[in-house]
Amino acid sequence: MAQRVINFNPGPSALPLAVLEQAKSEMLDFQGTGMSLLETSHRSKPFEAVLDSAIQRTRRLLGLDESYQVLFIQGGASMQFAMVPMNLAEGKPVDYVNTGTWATKAIKEARICGNETRVVATSEDAQFTYIPEKIDFNADAAYLHITSNNTIRGTQWRNFPDAGAVPLVCDMSSDIFSRRFDPRPFGLIYAGAQKNAGPAGVTMVIIREDLLKRVPKELPTMFKYTTYSDNRSLYNTPPCFSIYICELVLKWIEETVGGLDRMEKINEEKAALLYNYIDSQDFYRGTARPDSRSRMNVTFLLPEAELEKEFLATAVEAGLVGLKGHRSVGGLRASIYNATTIESVKTLVDFMKQFAKR
Ligand SMILES: *Cc1c(COP(=O)(O)O)cnc(C)c1O
Repeated sequence: MAQRVINFNPGPSALPLAVLEQAKSEMLDFQGTGMSLLETSHRSKPFEAVLDSAIQRTRRLLGLDESYQVLFIQGGASMQFAMVPMNLAEGKPVDYVNTGTWATKAIKEARICGNETRVVATSEDAQFTYIPEKIDFNADAAYLHITSNNTIRGTQWRNFPDAGAVPLVCDMSSDIFSRRFDPRPFGLIYAGAQKNAGPAGVTMVIIREDLLKRVPKELPTMFKYTTYSDNRSLYNTPPCFSIYICELVLKWIEETVGGLDRMEKINEEKAALLYNYIDSQDFYRGTARPDSRSRMNVTFLLPEAELEKEFLATAVEAGLVGLKGHRSVGGLRASIYNATTIESVKTLVDFMKQFAKR
């Protein structure tokens, strides 16, 4: 087998080995079709079965009732920053919580779309190292937008805010399928697949029916959620291969891991291994406030920034890659999404101990 490294990349990121192996085994002949899925029509029975299965698995894993639709859209989470206000604002003010880089970008797009955009809470005062508790809810908002996991700063909502009748809209790009949550307060959830759900090229959008009624008729076809919901994401050619890999990842969570509760337990255990070690010594220092720490992206600093290069180079020699912090904030970051095993995290902690000793 190929020599594989331990991959802590923030996104695109590690995929379960079993998923890669299945994709490899089906590459030349997808389920007896005599061709690769890459070469198969998106209107063929084999692909439609993949798409249906991805939708059903998403429904089961997240416990979505019939009022939700699962859509697959291109353009990344970044395109959702604009599609959300274009489709859902209905000319009303829109509310955002600013918890970091991605939230800031979402706010910028809402403003470009011409909506009155209110930042109802922010943690900018402390470099986005925490999740704000006090949110100035407005009952007249079209929606309240939050970012469930802040990939760059390493913070994560533990409990989602209760905005009453105002639907929550959430960017879950970096923690969807990592834990159980109650979907009912959410009017729309979106997630670029390339962190925790599959490869780049597809974004999952989960939307509640009452929000589909808001979609303005005059929007260009490809920017309307209804184009995707009315055509089962098959209005035009979808990113078939990306959806196929997502389906395999979801199957892995359901059938190999044993569901979302089990997945969440494993993720808690992985994060605890790292944070407990960081808290037990004073060479490394965590950057997120403890009550806001992410279980997906663990951000930390060395005693001196000059040591970072050496840390990263030594890590690569030990087969540990992707530990550099985001270019905008520096420091180090271990992204420990679903596909990262407990063993891999233990190896990282051992490496950190040895590096600190040296
Ligand atoms: C990576 C990321 C994005 C950007 O995703 P693209 O698919 O590259 O547009 C947006 N939000 C969050 C939380 C992310 O982690």
